[in-house]
Amino acid sequence: MPTLQHILMLAQEGPLLVQPGVQETAAAVDSVIDAATQHSLVNLAYLVASILFILGIKGMTHPRTAVRGNLTGAIGMLLAVLATVWQLQLFSVGVAAVAMAIGAGIGWYLAVKVAMTQMPQFVALFNGFGGLASLLVAAAEAHAGFPGALNVAESGVAAGLTGLIGAVTFTGSMVAAGKLQEIDMFRKPWSFPGHQLANAAIFALCLVLTFVMASGGGWPYWLIVLAAAVLGVLLVAPIGGADMPVVIALLNSYSGLAAAAAGFVISNNVLIIAGSLVGASGVILTSIMCKAMNRSLAHVLFGKMEASGDAPSADEVYGGKVKSTSAEEVAMLLDGVQRVVIVPGYGLAVAQAQHAVSDLANLLEKRGVKVEYAIHPVAGRMPGHMNVLLAEADVPYDQLKEMDDINPTMSQCDVAIVIGANDVVNPVAGTDPTSPIAGMPIIHVDQARTAIVIKRSLSPGFAGIPNPLFAADNTLMLFGDAKKVLVDLVAALKEAC
Ligand code: NAP
Repeated sequence: MPTLQHILMLAQEGPLLVQPGVQETAAAVDSVIDAATQHSLVNLAYLVASILFILGIKGMTHPRTAVRGNLTGAIGMLLAVLATVWQLQLFSVGVAAVAMAIGAGIGWYLAVKVAMTQMPQFVALFNGFGGLASLLVAAAEAHAGFPGALNVAESGVAAGLTGLIGAVTFTGSMVAAGKLQEIDMFRKPWSFPGHQLANAAIFALCLVLTFVMASGGGWPYWLIVLAAAVLGVLLVAPIGGADMPVVIALLNSYSGLAAAAAGFVISNNVLIIAGSLVGASGVILTSIMCKAMNRSLAHVLFGKMEASGDAPSADEVYGGKVKSTSAEEVAMLLDGVQRVVIVPGYGLAVAQAQHAVSDLANLLEKRGVKVEYAIHPVAGRMPGHMNVLLAEADVPYDQLKEMDDINPTMSQCDVAIVIGANDVVNPVAGTDPTSPIAGMPIIHVDQARTAIVIKRSLSPGFAGIPNPLFAADNTLMLFGDAKKVLVDLVAALKEAC
């Protein structure tokens, strides 16, 4: 893409570049003016697109405006794509159209096929492919020796950074997606003696090669990509599954930074702006998730969290202490209560029980019971997972209470109904400093007068550890698929009145 400086230079040099004839000179000046007009219009479109991105992000800060925000961002992206395609030459337009049709087809197929519960892995793959796309753009420029660059040294360094961040994002995201999909070879965190030292050495090598890139493209670029690809795996592999929300948010931020760096390589303003927006919002999300899990970023990335060898086994925690109940018994228990707190978790998403839980809440409300939902920031498998599910079932926003708001009132709760949640209500987070969820704030279901836990078995949650809540004196286990159990409970409640 010609930059404004290019066009002005061309305008100044025009008469020298063409045959000395007056007509040719005039035609050359005309074409330069056309190019300058096109350049200005494209940049204007990029500016409008950037404003739409920012308005879109603003819209997504509240559930009520989120859908409109998403649409606003998508319109901005469409405008940016159309403006870019308009600038391409005819052959490139054809290639871009075919590439976009293939990409859109694959995207459509996956969006329809992927289950809601697999969305986090899907997002991880998106991040990874974002990094890969950026590194390929920089690779093409580096391979061609930065033909459109005014300053090859600057473009070389920007390409090196794109290769570094893009490759870390790609392989890191693939490992993160593998962990979230619970694929055996990725699931277990691993590290080796001197792991952090090796990471630092690879990072330093990438930085040195990035500065070598100042003298042009070529082999250093591919060396950076190779080393950074290894670094991506080494960075994410030691991180425990329960810390994945933070890692996904961080990789999201990296994918934005890679895009912004690629924007500098090809002098594309909208890529720089959109990449910076993704980078910045990813960092903000990372900090929110760190806070929600009571972890510092350094601790997530470099801290080693392993369950201690002397942690009690499931048999020791549950043996002879678990009391199971039935829908009919719970219906009786709910008769005459004043306040019920529902704690949804990942199992609610698996069972697709959001409509069933809303039916239960409506029924209880009709009987004068105050019903609230306690939302843990990392419940489920992606930020805002529970909010999205409950919004789908038209649960009123004012019934959703954030963890910090509801926790001080949990001791005044008659019945807490935990639906498919496990780690986010596990008291071990506050009692065992060696547990994989140590320090993570939890919803204090253990303080409610009675806790009903709906899940299929005593299987652990994402962190893979037993939960003493299930064996507590005031806990009753209602075993079964969340949707079926809730339907039975609603039927039993109706029958009981
Ligand atoms: P969880 O600890 O993963 O537990 C979910 C529970 O749901 C399981 O114990 C499972 O037990 C139950 N379940 C599964 N299918 C069910 C069904 N059909 N009906 C009823 N129950 C069902 O979930 P959580 O308490 O929501 O905690 C989230 C965890 O995921 C945290 O460790 C968090 O760090 C991690 N994480 C969160 C994010 C995020 O961004 N939110 C991203 C990645 C990881 P049964 O098999 O016995 O039914």
